[in-house]
Amino acid sequence: MIVVFKKDTDAAYIGSFEKYIKSLGFDVCVLGGNTAEIKGDTALLDTEKIKSFGMVESVTRLSSPYKKVSREYRKEDTVIKVGDVLIGKDLTVMAGPCSVESEKQIIEIASAAKKAGASVIRGGAFKPRTSPYSFQGLGKDGIKYLVKAKQETGLPVVSEIISKDYLDEYADIDILQVGARNMQNYDLLKALGKTDKPVLLKRGMGASIEELLMSAEYILSEGNGKVILCERGIKTFETMTRNTLDVSAVALLKKLTHLPVVADPSHACGMSSLVKPLSLAAVSAGASGIMLEVHTNPEYAFSDGAQAVKPEELKEITDALKNIWQFVK
Ligand code: PEP
Ligand code: MN
Repeated sequence: MIVVFKKDTDAAYIGSFEKYIKSLGFDVCVLGGNTAEIKGDTALLDTEKIKSFGMVESVTRLSSPYKKVSREYRKEDTVIKVGDVLIGKDLTVMAGPCSVESEKQIIEIASAAKKAGASVIRGGAFKPRTSPYSFQGLGKDGIKYLVKAKQETGLPVVSEIISKDYLDEYADIDILQVGARNMQNYDLLKALGKTDKPVLLKRGMGASIEELLMSAEYILSEGNGKVILCERGIKTFETMTRNTLDVSAVALLKKLTHLPVVADPSHACGMSSLVKPLSLAAVSAGASGIMLEVHTNPEYAFSDGAQAVKPEELKEITDALKNIWQFVK
């Protein structure tokens, strides 16, 4: 980390700065010309803290603020085994409705999704909705029905957890999803870091790639290395799509981190007709798979019907993905 002091900062001031940084356990090398280099594991150092020194002009990191999630920390791809699925190695298609609406609905959709090539079933039970008047999910019953769909299909299941208070309810859920709105709920991230369950961490709609990696770092720093990152579209100036799928983020994340990366084309575009091309784009860019919304009756879905594909479209998508997977894996 390079620290540049303001012009005319006297040597005594730099000396006391050096002493303070050394007291925190770092080495400091004063380079002359009002510049100092802080050496050691500077991921543990907050740049804001350094900037609060009145005579500091600028602070530049030479290494990333995240550590355990980085490629430097671990060169090989992390592979997460969920049931028979190897996420990060095998092409993974997580599919299901936005919300679990009834026992019959989730079992019907899960069975159709399995036939269409899905390897993990999704379904929201506790729903974080933008409006408090929108359907909030079936809660505990939703989880119960999703677990029935798991037993029925033999496929693992993923569902969003919105509070650490509900952790006990998720005992039979295979992957805990942290939604975009909760990506920086650090209390939740820390609690999930203390479990040994795989976590699907979605990128916040206004979060940078570095912020996503820092959120993952929260989970890894507590001991849980089973994190899957999910690009689900970010807010841009564009109004014709719900969000904008950041394909560059998928490609860049593959370079920056060893963690598996998947994409959610459904929430990225908000319309079912774009789900196939976005799925292909994401996997071509390096995603290990996708998570998408599927419904047997999208017009009557309790939430996100416009972006749900039908099982027959899911089949087309998984077939096309398998074709490109052989070239990109
Ligand atoms: C979801 O997966 O249904 C969901 C609410 O996603 P996001 O957190 O990405 O909006
Ligand atoms: Mn949804």
